[in-house]
Amino acid sequence: MTLRVTNTLTGEKEPFEPRDPDSVLLYYCGLTTSDPPHLGHARGWVHVDVMARWLDHLGYDVHHVENFTDVNEKIVARVGEDGDSEESVARHYVQQVIDDMRSLNLGRAEVYPRVSEHVPEIIDLVKRLVEGGHAYEQNGSVYFDVTSFEDYGKLSNQSVDDIESQGEETEGEKRHPADFALWKAGGVDPDDIADHQHPEAAPAAEACQTAQTWDSPWGEGRPGWHIECSAMSMTHLDESIDIHVGGQDLVFPHHENEVAQSEAATGTQFAKYWLHVRLLETEEEKMSSSLGNYFTVADAVEEFGPDVLRTFLLSTAYTSRATYSDETIAEAEERWDRLSRGYERAVEACDDVDAYAKVTDETLRDAVADARSAFEAAMNDDFNTREAMTALLDLTAAVNSHLDAHEQRDYQGLRRAIEAFEELGGGILGLAFGDDDSGDVSLAGDVVDLVLNIREQEREAGNYERADELRDELEALGVEVQDTDDGPTYRL
Ligand SMILES: [Zn+2]
Ligand SMILES: [Zn+2]
Repeated sequence: MTLRVTNTLTGEKEPFEPRDPDSVLLYYCGLTTSDPPHLGHARGWVHVDVMARWLDHLGYDVHHVENFTDVNEKIVARVGEDGDSEESVARHYVQQVIDDMRSLNLGRAEVYPRVSEHVPEIIDLVKRLVEGGHAYEQNGSVYFDVTSFEDYGKLSNQSVDDIESQGEETEGEKRHPADFALWKAGGVDPDDIADHQHPEAAPAAEACQTAQTWDSPWGEGRPGWHIECSAMSMTHLDESIDIHVGGQDLVFPHHENEVAQSEAATGTQFAKYWLHVRLLETEEEKMSSSLGNYFTVADAVEEFGPDVLRTFLLSTAYTSRATYSDETIAEAEERWDRLSRGYERAVEACDDVDAYAKVTDETLRDAVADARSAFEAAMNDDFNTREAMTALLDLTAAVNSHLDAHEQRDYQGLRRAIEAFEELGGGILGLAFGDDDSGDVSLAGDVVDLVLNIREQEREAGNYERADELRDELEALGVEVQDTDDGPTYRL
């Protein structure tokens, strides 16, 4: 059974055949670190995470790269709010993205390159395009010449003539309206960030003073947006890779431009398969009220926990429509509850005196085998996590009926069910079956906070000895307490 994937480049579901039969080069277009990540970002992350886990499960050596766009006008627009310069705002949100990713139990990518670290590679690539006659300089900016690349429009299925214009343009600099900037002269223009500014941010002119610039053969300036992913993909993977993934909204212009500039520079196919994650939708009228409160990843993890969120995000295939609402999240809570209870019941029964070596329930054993093959078929069908989830729910139902119908339990059958939950639900879907339950981790955090509060009260009451004892007792449990100006903090 081979994996098939829906390729935006061809518009078809195709057999997946990587360039090297043993390894997969996968690039995910990461986010601009200018705002707290929201559940829409989480949808992309979790699906890419599961893709990488499944490719690894199929035996490929997976090289998975996700970038951070840490140089961008939108970041400059936040100066004064989450940092006092473009760089410090970006650092603030890069850390937040990493924390959010970890809190969703995402596997680590091989590397998370940032634009600010790759300006030399970007300049080299732009130089290559200029030398090859695919780009031209105007007043210190460099533009890609779309008419120089015959296949322009092949990803988004449009012709150059249909594209009116793209990107902000300095009057009269571009030869063709669809040409786009590879390098922009100077810093950031206050007019360009006015639309993105929050009321609490610094005045645009002040914020723009902190925008980073770099020397280049065309003078001081900043990289255009699109060129970064080509440069980082080539630096950390290869000129030609297997899978490039991103949100549906990136097909045009971002990915179209990536294809054009990369293939024009190298003369070889940039990415063989282009996979696009459909955006998460919301019920608009509810956005501001109940949902508005926990729409960021951090708030949603706090409210529902990573397993409910992953269950929610994986209950629809990445290519399908997914809506975030009270109902869909409640459904996910109910599903995760059913799955985790089924798993726990299997574990308890398996470790119970009533599980026997010679009791055989063929119905249970067949159900485990069926769930495994249904899961595999689903994942090989374009990473269909919705169907994979259904296979696990069927497994849960089979475990429940075995336990409800038999007083003497089938030890080996239950053990196989447990393995299936852990390997498929845990290993592939990233749900907490068997390993450290993240619920326990957050409970532990709450308990530590409680003890620290009591310790503060003891200190305020002058009971310093008791306060020190509490700190020592926490340390003996592996909780390192540090007193800061903002109060005590701890590390597990
Ligand atoms: Zn990309
Ligand atoms: Zn990108």
